Amino acid sequence: MGADTVLSIGNSQLHQVVEVRIPNTIDYFTQDEALIEANRCWLAPHFLDENNGFDLVFRSFIFEADGRVVLVDPCTGNGKPHPIPFFDNLDVPFIELLGETGFRPEDVDFVVCTHLHHDHCGWNTELRDGKWVPTFPNARYIMQRSEYLRWGPEADKHPEFALNVGVFEQSVRPVVEAGLADLVDGAHRLTPDLGVEPAPGHTLGHQLLRLVSGDAEALFCGDCFHHPIQLVDPMIPFGDAEDQTLVEEMRRKLAARAADTGALLIPAHLPEPCGVRAWREGAKISFAAAAPDFR
Ligand SMILES: [Zn+2]
Repeated sequence: MGADTVLSIGNSQLHQVVEVRIPNTIDYFTQDEALIEANRCWLAPHFLDENNGFDLVFRSFIFEADGRVVLVDPCTGNGKPHPIPFFDNLDVPFIELLGETGFRPEDVDFVVCTHLHHDHCGWNTELRDGKWVPTFPNARYIMQRSEYLRWGPEADKHPEFALNVGVFEQSVRPVVEAGLADLVDGAHRLTPDLGVEPAPGHTLGHQLLRLVSGDAEALFCGDCFHHPIQLVDPMIPFGDAEDQTLVEEMRRKLAARAADTGALLIPAHLPEPCGVRAWREGAKISFAAAAPDFR
């Protein structure tokens, strides 16, 4: 656990609050040795260690833009039951760690949930006097309406997803009932420098958050990919995409967009430095880990 500054994006300092780190290995994603070796030069050391390992990091990002405080993907939360022991009934000093980044819950103006899986909306709420109440009382919680419907009012139209049972009731419904949720349809601007856009595939209503600061740009792209090897081969699956074809298409689009615009890709769970940049070399797109001072 820890709270620290991970990147500069233009004028914004990006901090993270880490809830859980889960060691993983690349062979969980692919056993293609040739592919791994061909990309080791840029994956190592940040995204691949000498034992082919890396951590899946469960964290929230927090930063200021246009004078507003933004928190992206509020993790799993404390005291919530979960079938995976790593996430079950957590007791993490998340709010204290948030404080180390210089922010208090009441400072947060926007909470952006890229989607409504347990690890992206859990700290939406905390338990007080036996009731789940909003953790960030002054924030607008930004969610895609289609994602809200999929997990809430229209959940029975979709297959049950065992890893998300109970999440809507504990982590989503209370902020909607408190009048703090903005359910948006597609692209939506939050401030001149900040906006959300649909990025479907991992879930049907998945969105990304775009930050433009100075001449730097970052795309907080949630679970569009979980390891950068999936940018090289977008067909490498990870567990539980709701629409595998859409998520593959999303990865291709993100790689091309990053290469063409210089935008930094910041998915939810990458180890530090958290971001990937891309550029074109002839017909090929090349990738590298973000430099800490990305400008
Ligand atoms: Zn996730």
